[in-house]
Amino acid sequence: RSKRRGRGQTTVYSVDIAEEMKRATQLEQALRRAIIADEVDVHFQPIVDLRNGAPVGFEALARWHDDELGFVSPATFIPLAEERGIIEPLTEAMLKKATRTALSWPVEMFLSFNLSSAQLLDPTTHDKIMAILRSVGFDPRRLGLEITETAMMADPEIANSIIDSLRAEGVSISLDDFGTGQSSLGRLREIALDKVKIDRTFVSEITRDRPSEHIIKAIIALCEGLDLEVVAEGIETREQADKLLQLGCSIGQGYLYGRPMSADRIQQFISAAGTVLTAQQQFR
Ligand code: C2E
Ligand code: MG
Ligand code: MG
Ligand code: MG
Repeated sequence: RSKRRGRGQTTVYSVDIAEEMKRATQLEQALRRAIIADEVDVHFQPIVDLRNGAPVGFEALARWHDDELGFVSPATFIPLAEERGIIEPLTEAMLKKATRTALSWPVEMFLSFNLSSAQLLDPTTHDKIMAILRSVGFDPRRLGLEITETAMMADPEIANSIIDSLRAEGVSISLDDFGTGQSSLGRLREIALDKVKIDRTFVSEITRDRPSEHIIKAIIALCEGLDLEVVAEGIETREQADKLLQLGCSIGQGYLYGRPMSADRIQQFISAAGTVLTAQQQFR
């Protein structure tokens, strides 16, 4: 659009950039307020056994609704919080809420929590997380932390020492969005991981696109060899779930099983799943 404007181009761009900076600052101020007022909420998405749909754990996802700005996606406000140096109080508040909620779930169900790149650069992360778990009374063995390769790359040495120290406490580590970003197979050897989450861009194409199917097949084989659990993200159809099962992946999450839900709805989801499973067992 601006290209055609010839000499006016520079002005158009600088107005756009100024607008964007204004909007980011407005978002930042609103987010700061929301964090202090404890208005950023946490929802949970079921992670299920694909063989029977039974929940095995839940991923915590940040949710923020601002009166003026409306619903703001975490894909927007999490990176902004990192940029503006306010990710730490946000993460701590989220982890407290998420672990308190997870205390009421059956003990065999885990909580999966996304760590941001800032936390993988901060040598005090281990102590901060452990202090929260102790104050809430949440067993570290029920906590999984999701990290990304991009976050790892900022300072692999610090990131690895944080990961190792948390694993020593019993926390498990998942590599999120695997197959995107700065992916490298070698990375799987450099980080002590427990799980790999296949990005939904591959899952969404698995029944339509041969390359995606082969990529998923290769990831599953690789993880089997490295003794890593595989979790598929973004499963929306029965066909995708069947294909994943056929390829040897039996854990996943996606709209087919459940959208991210409030703590209350998760409680209902757990009860409903329990009833269905008991009924299934009785019929066997
Ligand atoms: P993610 O960790 O990869 O989370 C999965 C995203 O996929 C979530 O988006 C979830 O709602 C969405 N999703 C799940 N199943 C499906 C499906 O079947 N189809 C489709 N189309 N989407 C599905 P969401 O909640 O918008 O979060 C986006 C990203 O923001 C997350 O990606 C994560 O990187 C980040 N994020 C969210 N909450 C937090 C948080 O508390 N802390 C940090 N550091 N990052 C967070
Ligand atoms: Mg995640
Ligand atoms: Mg993911
Ligand atoms: Mg993803």
